[in-house]
Amino acid sequence: MNNHSHPDPAPWRGRPACCQDRTPALTVDELTVTYDGVPALRGLTLPVNHGCLTAIVGPSGCGKSTFLSCLNRMTDLVPGCTVHGRIRLGALDVLDARVDLVGLRRKVGMIFQRPNPFPLSIRDNLTLPLTHHRLAHGAALDDTVEHALRQVGLWDEVAHRLSAPALSLSGGQQQRLCLARALVLEPDVLLLDEPCSALDPMAAGVVEDLITSLRGRYTLVMVTHNLAQARRVADDVAVLWMHGGAGTLVEHGTAGQVFETPAHEITAAYLAGVRG
Ligand code: ADP
Ligand code: MG
Repeated sequence: MNNHSHPDPAPWRGRPACCQDRTPALTVDELTVTYDGVPALRGLTLPVNHGCLTAIVGPSGCGKSTFLSCLNRMTDLVPGCTVHGRIRLGALDVLDARVDLVGLRRKVGMIFQRPNPFPLSIRDNLTLPLTHHRLAHGAALDDTVEHALRQVGLWDEVAHRLSAPALSLSGGQQQRLCLARALVLEPDVLLLDEPCSALDPMAAGVVEDLITSLRGRYTLVMVTHNLAQARRVADDVAVLWMHGGAGTLVEHGTAGQVFETPAHEITAAYLAGVRG
């Protein structure tokens, strides 16, 4: 586990470069979102690099969760929400009305602040998405379930009670199960909305380390209002800020650029803990 109590002042230095080619997996252009006509995000343009962990930081209410929910069209579920602009995931035009939403959400998985396992057994939390998407059946299901639970470090903890309710697990275990449930679908992108902030410090550390271990294999977009966490884990950082009543992007770059030489006064003050 990371030694969270003695923070490295520049953890991005010397870290294996998992996303050196810096090819965008997602490109976001001029994204504007309104709720009942009131803008929540305005004109956001941002590349999300392949295999990188991009941290989205900024004060409460500046549109971080809204941004994530555009990327897999969860915004479609909110009455009165409009989304304008362009989001590309490879060749896919995410905001095109004809997009297959089930397929999109398989490619772009999501983890929320509060773990939300299905009120089913531990095993069924994984077999349900697998059978729904016809990814495994019969004997292959057991192998896939074991592999997924091993990937999130849960196998040894739950192997003897796969039929137990997922809701009987601790918060940290539930969050790891939710990660496993997303990973069995072999997504390209994982969206993480403050995934550690509802957990106790020990469990938060375990989940953070797990997320960090996924860098390189998946493109990760993680909202966090914990700047120390962003410093520890981010390859790239996007800072959102309120301007004229709506969230806008004030700065985007590598963690080294944004934390060491922030380009904006607002970012410098926010990152120094003076504002926000
Ligand atoms: P953050 O995640 O940065 O705290 P949000 O994306 O949750 O910010 O919210 C941005 C703005 O959009 C806020 O003003 C919030 O009240 C508004 N908002 C978010 N979700 C909804 C919704 N479902 N209906 C109406 N307004 C919303
Ligand atoms: Mg939020």
